[in-house]
Amino acid sequence: MSAGAAIPVLEFRNVTKVFNPGQKTEFTALKDVSFRIDDKPNYGEFVGILGPSGCGKSTILNLIHGFSDVAPATSGEVLVRGQAVRGPGADRGMIFQRYSSFPQRTVLQNVTFGLELGAAGRKLSGREREGLAREWIRKVGLGGHEHKYPHQLSGGQQQRVAIARSLVLKPRIILMDEPFSALDEPTRLDMQRLIMDLWHEVEATVLLVTHSISEAVYLGDRVWIMGRAPGRILRQFDDVIPKTRDADPMAVQESAAFKEAVAEVSRAFREAEGAR
Ligand code: ADP
Ligand code: MG
Repeated sequence: MSAGAAIPVLEFRNVTKVFNPGQKTEFTALKDVSFRIDDKPNYGEFVGILGPSGCGKSTILNLIHGFSDVAPATSGEVLVRGQAVRGPGADRGMIFQRYSSFPQRTVLQNVTFGLELGAAGRKLSGREREGLAREWIRKVGLGGHEHKYPHQLSGGQQQRVAIARSLVLKPRIILMDEPFSALDEPTRLDMQRLIMDLWHEVEATVLLVTHSISEAVYLGDRVWIMGRAPGRILRQFDDVIPKTRDADPMAVQESAAFKEAVAEVSRAFREAEGAR
């Protein structure tokens, strides 16, 4: 198959989402949004998504995830590997700002949970599930905390549980909705480093919604700036975004090239906030 004919990992074709159509509260959250993310073998692409509050960032992730509160789109097509999204699936994992772990389950039980459901078509024995879960708990830096409950962990540690819970299922697409917004700055940098490290392992396509311009520029291979009312992608940056894989977040974020890229994206972001 030629590269041009390859099926994209993810594609939006003229996607419009109208909430509460025909009612007083009718609201067009997305209007005619189109993009494609091609499959780069052995390289999951990372897209950072920025935009003013209410511009439809979460709506885009929810449509990809197939959440019934938001999906399907009012018109247009949401395609994952060429197939229309019909609901949630183990090929897509979501990580939210608020810790989405089960409070009454231990770290280990939280991470084995998805595997117990037989997600991703795996048929694993209890022992295999536990082995895999322990491996991911180690990878996210929580070795030794297997038998703790979420309330016994810090915010950053709880977010590590959420990441392990999602990645143990080997999703091809990872949707992250402001995952580090509730964390303090040093913890946030730790999480950015963790995501960089794990990314090689999973080679998934990642869509990361964030308030932090530097986070989007650091983690993203490309960055989208959205504008609101109606929500749409106003700008895409890929040329100015420094390639930062394998690079330490602190070191990168202090470099002049990085600061310049952040300044350029910041200008576009301010314009987007003004755009109506
Ligand atoms: P963002 O994540 O960019 O802050 P959202 O995607 O959550 O924005 O929401 C986009 C717009 O759609 C907002 O104005 C929001 O109020 C509206 N919206 C989101 N979900 C619903 C819903 N279920 N019903 C009605 N309006 C909604
Ligand atoms: Mg949101």
